[in-house]
Parts: sequence; C-alpha cells; structure tokens
Amino acid sequence: MSAIYNFCAGPAMLPAVVMQKAQQELLDWNGQGVSVMEISHRSKEFIALTEQAESDLRELMQIPANYHVLFMHGGGRGQFSAVVNNFLGEQGKALYLTSGQWSSAALAEAQKLASEAQIDSLNIVEKHNGLNAVVLPDLHKIDADYRYVHYCPNETVDGIEIFDELDSPWPIVADLSSTIMSREIDVSRYGLIYAGAQKNIGPSGLSIVIVRDDMLKLPSLPQSSIMDYRLQVEHGSMFNTPPTFAWYLAAEVFAWLKSIGGIASIAKVNQQKAQMLYQCIDGNAFYRNGVVAANRSQMNVTFQLVNEALDSEFLKQAQIAGLVALKGHRIVGGMRASLYNAMPLEGVAVLVKFMNEFAAKHS
Ligand code: PMP
Repeated sequence: MSAIYNFCAGPAMLPAVVMQKAQQELLDWNGQGVSVMEISHRSKEFIALTEQAESDLRELMQIPANYHVLFMHGGGRGQFSAVVNNFLGEQGKALYLTSGQWSSAALAEAQKLASEAQIDSLNIVEKHNGLNAVVLPDLHKIDADYRYVHYCPNETVDGIEIFDELDSPWPIVADLSSTIMSREIDVSRYGLIYAGAQKNIGPSGLSIVIVRDDMLKLPSLPQSSIMDYRLQVEHGSMFNTPPTFAWYLAAEVFAWLKSIGGIASIAKVNQQKAQMLYQCIDGNAFYRNGVVAANRSQMNVTFQLVNEALDSEFLKQAQIAGLVALKGHRIVGGMRASLYNAMPLEGVAVLVKFMNEFAAKHS
C-alpha cells in the first residue's frame, strides 16, 4: 500500500514510530506479560510511567515548579466546565475572548453554568480587507476584577492562530488543544493551560491541565469530584481510574518528541510545513484562505476552492492520492489540512504537489 497522509483535525495522526512501539508492546508491556491496559493504575510500573510522562512534559514545555500537571478525563470540553466550576465560585467574574468556534463554545458552556452577571465576553476578530484578523484588546484598560480571562490561541475550525502574547492583569486560562507543543510558549504567563490530547499528544478522552498553584486557592463551586483540580492534584490525577492507555500513549509521544529534539526543533518543521502549504494556496488563484497572514494557523490550514462545485471532486481525487481527511469542519465548509507534529514534511509536499496538479487540470 502506498503512503497515506492523514490530515484529520482530531483525533489526529500519531507518530508512526509511537504506533509501532505500541503495537509491539500491546500484549506484553514492560515485561509484565499483559497489556498496559490490563494492569492496575496504582501498580508501581504504571506509576513509574506516569512519573516519566510528567517529567518529560515538564522538560519539553519547561513548566515551572509552581505549576501542577494533571492528566484528566473529558477532553477539551470537559475543561470548559471544569474551569468555571473550579475558579468562579458564587461571586467571581470571568472574561471570555472569542475568536472562533471553540472559544465561543467555551463561552457558551460558561454562560450555561454561571449567572449572567459573572461572564463577560469580547469578540477579538475583525475583518481586514475581507480577511479575519485578531486584534488583541488592551485588557489593562478594562476596569473590572476578573478571576481569569479565557482565550483559545488556536482555533481548530477557523484556522486562526494568535501568535502575539496576551497581556493581562488577570490570570490567563488558555485552551491550547490544537497548538500545545507545536511551538515554544512561556508557561509562566498562564494561570491555567488545558488541552484535549487528540491532536499533538495522544488519543481522545485524555486532557492535560497545567495549573499554577495559587489558582487552586480560588473559591470553587460544588462539582463532580473527578473534575476538581484540587482533588486531582491531591490524588496525582488518580481520584478514580484514569484513561491508562491514553496516558501510556501520551508518555510515548513525549518520549518521541524529546528524541527528535523537543519543541524548538519540531516548531521549525511546523513552520516550514505551514509555509509550504500557504505558499501553494497564495500562488494559485484556484484556492483561497480567509485569514490575514499574521493569524494563519500553523496547525490547521483552512482553504477554499474558489469554484466550490469542485469540492467533492477535489476530496475524491485527494483520497485516491492517499491524502485523507481534508474536508473542512461541517460548520465552515471548504477544506482543512491539519499539520500537527506527527505530520511529516513529506506529507505536506505530496499535498502541495497534488493541489498544484489539481488546480492546473481544472483551471
Ligand atoms: N478546544 C479546541 C481548540 C478543540 O480543537 C477541540 C476539539 N477539536 C475542543 C476544544 C474540544 O475537545 P473535545 O472534543 O476533546 O472535548
């Protein structure tokens, strides 16, 4: 079978070497004679795995010592409610910046759980010559006392990424689901970071939470114990049985990333991949992208065929060429190529060649 390149936005492709290792170890992990799925999460072997995973993640992201790392259930959306329930209490207020589908979904969840007076929101996307552009507000000019400001630096559906640092007088809570570990970030700027695993980390269901210890002193609402950050810190993310196989795969992905030079090194490749694809889009009148250059996502490249009538033929021919999962999100349509860490440069080169040839044939 010739190579398949999977551009799915999530659950996304995982590094081939990690999948091969998991396959080899599936029935006999670590000399146990059983799968890692079949052992107690409290066994010393599994605890050793979790300790290694945390230490690798801390090293990769240079997480300061005053931050806790949690491996939780419930993916990205699980954290939409956890953040509210853990930090707002009866009286607290929060500000939500919206820049696309996922930050809006986080806002909607907060509005559902808190009272109207507790949640403020601000849209930060403007049209500049018909293109989406993020304009970060000067938060220091807002006279309010928020427990946190929430935003989403990479909008997976809309293909919008915010590279500029958000400057805030209040703790920043960031949904990094689709950008975590794709480029270097300064963790110390955040009160809390969360990410669903299924893009740059591992299988779906798991989420990573990185939380500064002072945030845990904020008054919280009564809530489900498994989503309670304080309880999970106390129990080493094992208040109940964690998603052990996902945790194991995440550990393998961290080890892989370290082995290839860490985030600084993958960030260069990611930049190159995105550049190649945007150059192809800009170089063909056949395709268009609706985001200003400064906010074009490196992980989720959205594009449209100018002649939408060719969409299904494009997807059909791409599939035949081994290029799968290029259909844009159902809400926005068009195409989307997700270029997470596991996507090799070669996959993007094959996609670009295909796109150039398809455009030449149908122009
Ligand atoms: N936030 C972002 C930025 C996402 O891309 C996604 C999923 N695509 C989510 C949140 C929701 O994640 P989940 O489906 O794991 O709840």
